[in-house]
Amino acid sequence: MTDFTYSVDADGVATIAWDTVGKSMNVMSQEAFLTMDGMVDKALADAAVKGIIITSAKKDFAGGMDLNVIAKMKEDGGDDPAKSVFEGVMGMHAILRKIERAGMDPKTLKGGKPIVAALPGTALGIGLEIPLSCHRIIAADNPRAKIGLPEIMVGIFPGAGGTTRLVRKMGAMMAAPFLLEGKLSDPKAAKAAGIIDEVVAPEDLLTRAKEWVLGAKDADLVKPWDAKGYKMPGGAPYHPAGFMTFVGASAMVHSKTMGVYPAAKALLSAVYEGAMVPFDTALKIEARWFTSVLMNPSSSAMIRSLFINKEALEKGAVRPAGVPDQSVKKVGVIGAGMMGAGIAYVSANAGIEVVLIDAAQEAADRGKSYSAGILDKGIARKKVTEEKKAEILGRITATTDYAALAGCDLIVEAVFEDMGVKAEVTKKVEAVVGPDCIFATNTSTLPITDLAKASARPAQFIGIHFFSPVDKMLLVETIRGKETGDRAVAKALDFIRQIRKTPIVVNDARFFYANRCIIPYINEGIRMVAEGVEPVLIENAAKLVGMPLGPLQLVDETSIDLGVKIAKATKLAMGDAYPDSAVDAVLFAMADQGRLGKKSNAGFYSYDDKGKRLGLWDGLEAAYPLAEAQPDVGHVQQRLLMAQVLEAVRALEDGVLMDIREGDVGAILGWGFAPWSGGPLSWLDMIGAARAVEICDALTAQYGPRFTTPALLRDMAEKGETFYTRFAPQKKAA
Ligand code: NAD
Repeated sequence: MTDFTYSVDADGVATIAWDTVGKSMNVMSQEAFLTMDGMVDKALADAAVKGIIITSAKKDFAGGMDLNVIAKMKEDGGDDPAKSVFEGVMGMHAILRKIERAGMDPKTLKGGKPIVAALPGTALGIGLEIPLSCHRIIAADNPRAKIGLPEIMVGIFPGAGGTTRLVRKMGAMMAAPFLLEGKLSDPKAAKAAGIIDEVVAPEDLLTRAKEWVLGAKDADLVKPWDAKGYKMPGGAPYHPAGFMTFVGASAMVHSKTMGVYPAAKALLSAVYEGAMVPFDTALKIEARWFTSVLMNPSSSAMIRSLFINKEALEKGAVRPAGVPDQSVKKVGVIGAGMMGAGIAYVSANAGIEVVLIDAAQEAADRGKSYSAGILDKGIARKKVTEEKKAEILGRITATTDYAALAGCDLIVEAVFEDMGVKAEVTKKVEAVVGPDCIFATNTSTLPITDLAKASARPAQFIGIHFFSPVDKMLLVETIRGKETGDRAVAKALDFIRQIRKTPIVVNDARFFYANRCIIPYINEGIRMVAEGVEPVLIENAAKLVGMPLGPLQLVDETSIDLGVKIAKATKLAMGDAYPDSAVDAVLFAMADQGRLGKKSNAGFYSYDDKGKRLGLWDGLEAAYPLAEAQPDVGHVQQRLLMAQVLEAVRALEDGVLMDIREGDVGAILGWGFAPWSGGPLSWLDMIGAARAVEICDALTAQYGPRFTTPALLRDMAEKGETFYTRFAPQKKAA
């Protein structure tokens, strides 16, 4: 069995149909590429074949490249992985260029065989790069299909000619959102943008493709860039208009990426340099930049965390073995506030029946109307139909009546963050649900093991911690209490899969995993304000190292009074061991002045009446005079990063984190930890344990025990180990 099938019909039209063995979505492997190549050769060599249709036997065309192939190319290279990667990429270029030239005479551009790509559905990454090398792209009118080049999202760029071809087809300016932001379009939008050539009714796809092949003339096969007198749309870099585009694009990329994402820079270089040379040289330049990106540790780490490990977690890598499917049919959401309303929406949207309960009917109704609001926005953007809205809202019953929970197989509690209120709710729920129902709490700070004491069935009690806003945030943190059983974990993971989010599973400890790491980040920023470090230096240092928000902006967004509440509760729990009084002095003073953050239009930043952030509050400087000697930006970054990553290491040492993949994926999806690094543990691997120990020792000498080097890190430095060698997931499974 191979991943492509080949057939020729009575009219001499060959069809090469992609059908990856054993997968529901086509993905490209090295072998499959060679199989396709062999079939193209066969068709070009066969005098009876007039033209070729490249299509899919599945409902979609392709999801992209199997990114494990890249790791394989590197491994195959032994001592010279870059050479192996470059040659591998050039091999792909040769195959796609052969499709594009299709046997035509290179001088007269005549005598080639027409090759059309017929896309029944989604076509991503290499699944669009192959069509871009064909002479025509026809897509079925399938509004659910996604067409585009999302490579940049995992730290690489389209490196099988997609970059060079799209820019030459559309111009650098028009291609920018598709290449630099990985923008995906449905077939009609892709046609309007000029990425594909035709959209036809799904049932006409192959007939139309065949008709085109049989009617194509020599001139129809010649790509603009292979024709005489080709000029790049919008102008090449040395053209005045092109010059403006490239200057602007360069500035835009740097403002968005802060210079920390090698792929975006390399992509721009490939486009800029490629635009000034003939097509085949441009492909070679693209291949060189692509190789340079693939050899960059940041790209490998991003691929590992954001593609390979994220997918592994979504597919159940940490799900308890042997527990049968626990898919949720009816979920009860208790508390219809900000979180409960979001949880109800994502559940109903995934086809699950929802009972949404609050203490008052108005509150429950308001929670349900939150879903209506999201769906209305979808309707305005033509992503949702009125029928779909009615169907989703029809699944949500908003009520105050606990009896409506009968028949629920999962409960997610999202009432006030109060032990007593939560205990009372737990008892009320357990009185009406069946004995098999799993009870989950969305608490962000209360220990699951303590909350489970209110339950008659602690083995069925678990933490399912969503992030806000629920409909946008991709991570869900599942927390095992001391007595939580495997079926509860499996239920949580099956639910998270149903609502199409990414799970991590951690053990119960103060602030679980994500909040445990993010709070010290915010606190370190606030400490620096108290020390007289320029606030703008703190914020920019964070952004320049790839954090989406500086610590002061982050605490403004999450609210300063929440920070005060957490600080008070933590102090109460820790007593004399509480280490953050210096932070509290600033935080409490802000709260006392009514500066509660974004929600009160006043915090570490100033805001206008409409809530637009203006700049750092000028009162900060009066309250915390600037120190005469300011640290350099690298030092501020070390403090901000180490504050987070040391907690990740401690979480691993304490057994809160059970799998390093979860530590990295959870950090990027949960709080946006510098995605270019692949996550906190990948970042430590990148700088090396020895260097990390050096930084920690120096910071400890200067600032005290919060930077104490974890014993684990010291041991790894002595042994020359990395996290991904010491805790390799395969080793764990063995
Ligand atoms: P919220 O105040 O917006 O909503 C709480 C809702 O629970 C209110 O509508 C309230 O009327 C209802 N409620 C209170 N007692 C009830 C009872 N006995 N029976 C039924 N309903 C009751 O709060 P929120 O921000 O949605 O937070 C809810 C939970 O989620 C908390 O445990 C919180 O710690 C956690 N959480 C919040 C965030 C966040 O960013 N806000 C993130 C993760 C987790």
